[in-house]
Amino acid sequence: MSVIDELKSAIKAKLSELDLVIGWGPGFDPLHATPLFMRCEKDVDKLLWGPLNVHNPATYLPGLKGKKVGVVVKGCDSRSVIELLQEKLVKREELVIFGAPCAGVIDMGKVRRALGDLDKVNAVSIEGDNVVVTAGGKQHTLPLAEVAADKCGRCRYHNALISDVFVGEHLPPSVEQDDYADVEAFESQSLEERNAYWKREMQRCIRCYACRNACPLCVCRDHCIAQSRDPHWIGQGDNVGDKWMFQMIHAQHLAGRCTECGECQRACPVGIPLLALKRKLNKEIKELFDYEAGVDPNACPPLQSFKVEEEHINERGW
Ligand code: SF4
Ligand code: SF4
Repeated sequence: MSVIDELKSAIKAKLSELDLVIGWGPGFDPLHATPLFMRCEKDVDKLLWGPLNVHNPATYLPGLKGKKVGVVVKGCDSRSVIELLQEKLVKREELVIFGAPCAGVIDMGKVRRALGDLDKVNAVSIEGDNVVVTAGGKQHTLPLAEVAADKCGRCRYHNALISDVFVGEHLPPSVEQDDYADVEAFESQSLEERNAYWKREMQRCIRCYACRNACPLCVCRDHCIAQSRDPHWIGQGDNVGDKWMFQMIHAQHLAGRCTECGECQRACPVGIPLLALKRKLNKEIKELFDYEAGVDPNACPPLQSFKVEEEHINERGW
């Protein structure tokens, strides 16, 4: 049985015990899958599985607390579920997790650059290691490796790390260790160059907060510093300072919690490379605390715990 058929029958078998199951279904065109909320067998028949399933369904879980929810996860999504469990933002007994191996998801920006015009997508199929897109009457064969999200090329968790039902064959990691080469390349620039880079990027921010809303671990929402008037943390001006302040606070709040699902960057309508900020902080957390978010449901994120003496922080030597 194929992964999708196995997933559908596993979900149907559990559906009567659940309020809903979150997965992916057809979007406004064949290239864009969209989050799917399944409540009946007819909904389950719409389920999609494959490289078009770019969204992270774990993002919806904190808002569904109190309901019994099923969630279909890729490896990276499963890390968000684990992090939510660690932080007690969701309850394990309220979740049924359907996991499967994911070989990578597409980066729509890369597809757009490869095809030029995405306005008239007629059909999409996955053929072996290629994504075949028919757009404007022309057929384009795009190797998945070339249009996959960057996160997939460095993925060590293609298989869901937590699941009640796992279907399909386990996949090996893309790399043994994340070497943070992209972050190191950025760090090798001068402070002025780095500052100028982020100023340029932040100038393009339209403060839509899609990055915040798409993030499964950005959970303050109604009490977000970006909106609060009392206290008034950040001005609403259209200036780099306020925009940068928001992003810095977002990144700091995700330090040691961000599972690098890349949803912030994917959701950004102006293509700001936000994951670089999160990866920089994750690199620091890894070096200081030897910690990686979302891999152990029983672990406590380092910035939520306290030790008088941290092994890798030589406070007395400063
Ligand atoms: S900050 Fe971005 S990459 Fe990290 S968990 Fe949130 S959406 Fe995912
Ligand atoms: S999604 Fe992009 S444009 Fe919108 S607030 Fe975030 S960084 Fe700014």
